[in-house]
Formats: sequence, structure tokens, C-alpha cells
Amino acid sequence: MYGLSEEDLAIQARARDFADELIPFEEQAEDCGGDLPADVTAGHAKRARELGLHSTNMPAELGGGGCTTLQQVLVQEQMGRVTNALGWVAATPPSWLPAVATADQIERYVRPAISGDREECYAITEEAAGSDVDAIEATAQRDGDAYLLNGVKWHVTSYNTADFAFFQARLRGGPNDGEHAMFLVDLPSPGVRVVRTPAYTHTISHHHPIVAFTDVRVPVANLVGAEGDGMAFAYEWFRFERLMVAARCLGAADRLTAEMTAFAATRRAGGGPISDHGLVAGMLADALTELFAARAMAYETARGIDRGTDTKVSHGQCSMAKLYCSEMAGRVADRAVQVFGGRGYMRENVAERFYRELRVERIWEGTSEIQRMIIAGQMVKRGPSALA
Ligand SMILES: Cc1cc2nc3c(=O)[nH]c(=O)nc-3n(C[C@H](O)[C@H](O)[C@H](O)COP(=O)(O)OP(=O)(O)OC[C@H]3O[C@@H](n4cnc5c(N)ncnc54)[C@H](O)[C@@H]3O)c2cc1C
Repeated sequence: MYGLSEEDLAIQARARDFADELIPFEEQAEDCGGDLPADVTAGHAKRARELGLHSTNMPAELGGGGCTTLQQVLVQEQMGRVTNALGWVAATPPSWLPAVATADQIERYVRPAISGDREECYAITEEAAGSDVDAIEATAQRDGDAYLLNGVKWHVTSYNTADFAFFQARLRGGPNDGEHAMFLVDLPSPGVRVVRTPAYTHTISHHHPIVAFTDVRVPVANLVGAEGDGMAFAYEWFRFERLMVAARCLGAADRLTAEMTAFAATRRAGGGPISDHGLVAGMLADALTELFAARAMAYETARGIDRGTDTKVSHGQCSMAKLYCSEMAGRVADRAVQVFGGRGYMRENVAERFYRELRVERIWEGTSEIQRMIIAGQMVKRGPSALA
């Protein structure tokens, strides 16, 4: 099905088997605030690398998987079948970075990220700048052979495990005054401190703290690309990550659909299995029907990127995939809770965990509303038939 090649099927099967290895650790992670013992997590990360599931999006010549976009989707889909972010060990470092990184940055950041020795986090969002990234107030001011960075960043995912941060700021002074720029900040660095670590809806080991950067001095060598390039990188990252969000949502919906079907076929009420009741059967049918449509859309978007589809068209299609797959997975999780009845409200149940965890997929990497604005904007500019 889906016209997958032998190689596609092979990496998909490896990822599926690995996800099945991770699933038994979900309840322990849920009970322990997301934190498995360090040696267990290290073992999972090592296994992801051995299986070729880490850095699938990075160039082979730098040690990455060099996989097609479709294969990246297939891997992330399987990782999405696992709750509590245990699948994040199959990490995807910033795929836009090698093309713009200096030789020194390749050695200090790109290669270690690919080998799993260093991990990144993104410090872009601020208290008054989320959907509207252009509204950021963080500043970068040239000072001799360095820049001074200042700003307070929100929701910095994985700050607690990261070795370096991408920090986006507005240039103050100089020829590019007011434009955006992106910097690499080693962690820890003097002047970088956690303001607080709020609790979030999901139970995962990766925190999302508010982080203050106060007169953080980074060498000019840590500027990514050129002054003024900051927003272009953010858009490139959004495009990639939106498709990967879509992929993980497919995996979540796949797992939920399988589990709710198995339950409905065996749970008896009113004289027979609950799947015999039309209202329950309808929830099963709607879940799989939507999953089929979502998967076809995400795979076709990935194939388009592999075929070299125009970037602006891919941008719109990635928004459609993210929008539809995240909303579809939310609906599937809601139905799954309902099918499981009281059990679906227990933390030990996969439907309960996904019901909470999937909510953020409609918020991060651009909310559903922002995706709709992007899609409609492209429709008006290029015509609907350019996108679909
Ligand atoms: C768990 C989590 C992890 C995150 N990780 C990171 C991270 O690692 N790094 C990082 O930089 N950021 C991160 N974020 C931030 C995330 O990208 C933002 O929360 C998201 O982009 C929305 O921004 P906001 O929260 O400021 O909401 P706002 O922008 O304030 O939006 C509020 C509401 O208004 C709507 N809205 C806003 N503008 C428009 C518009 N133009 N048209 C229609 N509706 C609009 C939104 O859709 C939303 O419903 C994370 C967020 C969460 C929750």
C-alpha cells in the first residue's frame, strides 16, 4: 500500500519494531514525571543510532541518514506511536544548518548533533511574540569580535538536556539594525539562566523553561549565516518540523485506532461486543477513514519535496499536512477515550495519555489558525490548484 519501495518498507519496519520496544516503558515514564532511569534512556538513544533512526534528515556525508523526506516521515510516524516523547531519541537535528554553517560550526555543532553527542534547543518565542515571530524583542549588539545577546525566551523545549541553543534576536546598531539574526549559544554560558520551569499538560522528560539571556557574549563565529538571515532559517525549520509533526500525529492515530478496535472487539456490553453497537462502530470507522486521508496527504507532501516541488508550494502543503494530521489525531484520541469508557480516563491507558499529549500538536510549530492563514494566503496568491 502507498507505493513504498523496498528501502522505504525496510526502514519503516525497523522504526516500527523500535517503537514496539519503547512502548512498554510508557507507563513507567508517566509515573515518574517523564524521567526514565538515565541508563535506560541512554540505551534507547544508542539503539536509535544503531538502527539508523537518528538524524535520518541529515546528509550522509556528515554521518547522517541521508534519507528521503518520505523515509523521514515513515520513521517519525512510527516514533509518534509512542507516548511520553520516548520516541524523541530518534532525533532530527536542524537539517537547514549544514548548508549555511561555517566549517568551524560543522565541527562544533553539526557533526556532534548528528552523532548524538550534542543536542540543540530553540530559543525563539517570547512572552509577547509567539505566532508573530517578527515581534521578538531580544537583541544582539556587535561588540568587537563578539555579539552581546539579551532577551527572555519562553517554552525553550529540551533546555534541560541541550548542549547549545539557537537564539533568535533583532540586531541593534550597525548596518543591519532592526533585522533578525540567529546565534549559536553554548550551554551553559555566563548570563544564561532559567527564570522558571512551568509544568505542562504532557508528562515528558524534556522541560520547556522560560530562559533569560543577559549580556551573553558569543563570538562572531557563532552567528549563523549572515546578519538578516534569521527569519529565513525559522521558516525552513517550520516547513520541515510541520511535516514531522504531521507524521508523528499519523503514528499516534494509528496506535489509537488499533488499540480502540481491539478493545471494542472484545469488550462486551448489552449482550455482545461494543463494536456491534452502531454508535461505537461509527467512531471506529471515522477514525480509520480520517487516518487514511491524513496519511495519503502527508506521504504525498513528502514525495513532492523529494521530487523538488517549488518551496512555496511545499510550504503550503506542509501547513495543510500539519493542520489536518494534528486535528485528525485530536479527534481520534477523543473517540478513543470514549470507546475505552472509564478506562480511557486512566493514566495507565494509552488513549488518556495521547488525549493530553496531542493537544500541543495544534499549537506548536504554528497554531492551526496560523496554518489556515498560510494555506488561504497561498490559495489567493497561486490559486488552489497549485497546492492540491
Ligand atoms: C509545549 C510547547 C513547546 C514549545 N517549544 C518551543 C521551543 O522549543 N522554542 C520556541 O521558540 N517556541 C516554542 N514553543 C512556542 C510555540 O511555538 C508557540 O506557543 C506558538 O507558536 C503560539 O504562540 P503563542 O503561544 O504566543 O500564542 P499567540 O501567538 O499569543 O496566539 C494565541 C491565539 O491567537 C491566535 N492567533 C495569533 N495570531 C493570529 C493570526 N494572525 N491569525 C489568527 N489567529 C491568530 C493563535 O492561533 C492562538 O489561538 C512551544 C510551545 C509549547 C506549548
